[in-house]
Amino acid sequence: MSPPMVEAVDVHKSFGRVEVLRGIDLTVQPGEVACIIGPSGSGKSTFLRCINHLERIDAGQMRVNGDLIGYRESGGKLYELRESEVARQRREIGMVFQRFNLFPHMTAAENVMEAPRTVRRDPRQAARKRAVELLDRVGLIDKCDTYPGQLSGGQQQRVAIARALAMEPRLMLFDEPTSALDPELVGEVLDVMRGLARDGMTMVVVTHEMGFAREVGDSLVFMDEGRVVEAGDPREVLTNPQQERTKLFLSKVL
Ligand code: ADP
Ligand code: MG
Repeated sequence: MSPPMVEAVDVHKSFGRVEVLRGIDLTVQPGEVACIIGPSGSGKSTFLRCINHLERIDAGQMRVNGDLIGYRESGGKLYELRESEVARQRREIGMVFQRFNLFPHMTAAENVMEAPRTVRRDPRQAARKRAVELLDRVGLIDKCDTYPGQLSGGQQQRVAIARALAMEPRLMLFDEPTSALDPELVGEVLDVMRGLARDGMTMVVVTHEMGFAREVGDSLVFMDEGRVVEAGDPREVLTNPQQERTKLFLSKVL
């Protein structure tokens, strides 16, 4: 049997004296779409950043596809990985942020080609061909040579998704990918994510889009104050929450 794609066990993280993650357990199986909801400041972004070691955890374990993130196990001991080795682990994981952070001086295709060219040293022609395919997949075949400044927010976010896919990740992390968009542009980004889910991509999605969580999510996690308060089938959690804190949160957002 293949290992879980993500396995977080008792993950703790503090910033100074503030404990932001207070023992998070979460397992995501290959092909699963796990959605995370919760109030602002509850630690959702920090948890996502721990998955790809953008934040170093203080205690607990984080595994992606069976491999400890940030460490090598040998003879029952743990050795911290060098930055270049962490970078290699991170390559398996694509991340999409609320702010798209495209390179403004590069066209859509050039943005998508950047990592394959610089990190993997793909030849220009092959990288370009692949970028065009990816932009087609996110519905932007006619925008390959357009600069970000000429694209809408929704189009820019779709380029950002194509860029994250360019290194052929096993896992995609989304941190509120539609929160910065005008309402009329949210749907086109969710549609692309829905397509990815249908194609079997494993995804962890922090979102306020309860409709997406309900329809596309295989599991839903409600986080509050650095803990998983409740988790389960999205329809169950959304329609029949068991915990008072979940009920209170949902009463405000639904
Ligand atoms: P969420 O994404 O659920 O809104 P975050 O993970 O962004 O929550 O933040 C959780 C808490 O951690 C907040 O109180 C935030 O201020 C704090 N925090 C996040 N990143 C840092 C950091 N780099 N340094 C200090 N505090 C941080
Ligand atoms: Mg956040």
